[in-house]
Amino acid sequence: MSNLVHIEAKNFNDVEQLYVLPINEYFIIYSPLKAITALTDKTAVSYLYDYLIKKQENQAKKKAIDTILNALQESTRELPGEPAGNPDPYFLGLIPTRACNGACHYCDFEHVGRRNKKMSYKMAIAAIDWMASRMKQLNKKKLEVHFFGGEPLYAPDVVSVAVHYARMIADQYDLLPYFEVSTNGLVSDKITRFVTDHINAVVLSLDGPEDIQNRQRPMRNKQDSFEPAVRFARAVSESNTELYLRACISNVSVRRMPEITDWFCRTFRPSIINFENLKSNKGSRDAGLLEPDPYMFAEQFLRSLQIADKYNVTVLNSSFASEKPQFSSCPVGKDTLIVTPEGEINSCYLLPNRWEERGLDLSVGKMKAGGMHISQEKIAGLRDLVKKKPRCTSCFCKWICAGGCHVDVTYPGSPVVYDNYCRQTRILGIIDMMRKIDQPGILEVFLGDEQQLRKFSMQRSDKLTDWSNHES
Ligand code: SF4
Ligand code: SF4
Repeated sequence: MSNLVHIEAKNFNDVEQLYVLPINEYFIIYSPLKAITALTDKTAVSYLYDYLIKKQENQAKKKAIDTILNALQESTRELPGEPAGNPDPYFLGLIPTRACNGACHYCDFEHVGRRNKKMSYKMAIAAIDWMASRMKQLNKKKLEVHFFGGEPLYAPDVVSVAVHYARMIADQYDLLPYFEVSTNGLVSDKITRFVTDHINAVVLSLDGPEDIQNRQRPMRNKQDSFEPAVRFARAVSESNTELYLRACISNVSVRRMPEITDWFCRTFRPSIINFENLKSNKGSRDAGLLEPDPYMFAEQFLRSLQIADKYNVTVLNSSFASEKPQFSSCPVGKDTLIVTPEGEINSCYLLPNRWEERGLDLSVGKMKAGGMHISQEKIAGLRDLVKKKPRCTSCFCKWICAGGCHVDVTYPGSPVVYDNYCRQTRILGIIDMMRKIDQPGILEVFLGDEQQLRKFSMQRSDKLTDWSNHES
């Protein structure tokens, strides 16, 4: 026992968080909590299993796996941060309006009763006041405000008031103001100038070249969205505002991801390209737009990464966007405060009926009497919620993907078996890993073997503790 490597446990059983991933004739030993990825073979895995799990003392075997044991012992990787006590918001989100000038086939944000509601200036100012004072109390340096919709720039006056007020209050509190807008870019030249003059980063939804963009993202007035969206993208790319391009990938566009990447990189030089899967609904199905095949998506994602490398552009998918272990890959569980035009304060920007259908309550407070009223109890409830995802218990993506969307993927009572999202995410995880350890040849063979790919993507447990089950 005394010879066993000490793996610092803190609140976790780190042996439980060691994963074994079969790749071709190799095996990867992966510890997300220790930031260790080791390409090894079956013998080394069996020695590791005997030593750490069966606790067998054998000096010859131990010597053979010394490098891995030492790496585990020496790594000082931080465990995921856990907010505690009063809210420590990830950012302040403002939804100036739920209305939108777009009519994307896959969007289910439409809500007739709320379409024309616009956030009052008073509400935006009260939320910013609260956030600035909270950041100061927490000794933070930044005042970070994100604008979502609908289409936030459909209420440009609210965005303008919020930005100018936040700059003023940030100056008073000695904070650095930071603004991010998620937009369709279908705006006037005047609003574009406001964005490039005042906003730090733009997340622009642009699904690809003309035929794809116009097919997937028509405008509400039946006109094509391609030209105005591209005009906006060019203006942002020529400014000091950072450009993140977000493309929703469907069955129609999945094979064209490399072409989209090349065009994005050459034309707009974005900081980030974010490829997300279309989530099908009635509107998308009626338009012939379905979710992409997860294996095809993963393969095209790799081709896109290879192209973007040449331009030094980052390509990501939200399931594998974090470098650090986390309990949640979305705003939920991170004390995020997103204020709606009606004065609700939620952790998720979806319409409440979407999460209520899943038996979830992602609200955390209300704007009342000109101020933010946050429920500490609800904040604590969401911090707790994100740690309970039975499906993820034995998956090696547990600490990075961390369960994905709490409404669409790992809602309470969701099936424990992997769905297409999981299959795709697990392969993206391998792509990410193999690129980090610079093994392109092994990765190509892995991706080219469909049978192996499918078997791997559905492997129920990746844990070293379950290694004997794999082998039987
Ligand atoms: S089981 Fe699915 S949702 Fe959970 S961590 Fe793995 S890939 Fe993500
Ligand atoms: S729960 Fe889903 S929709 Fe809501 S913020 Fe998280 S990822 Fe986004």
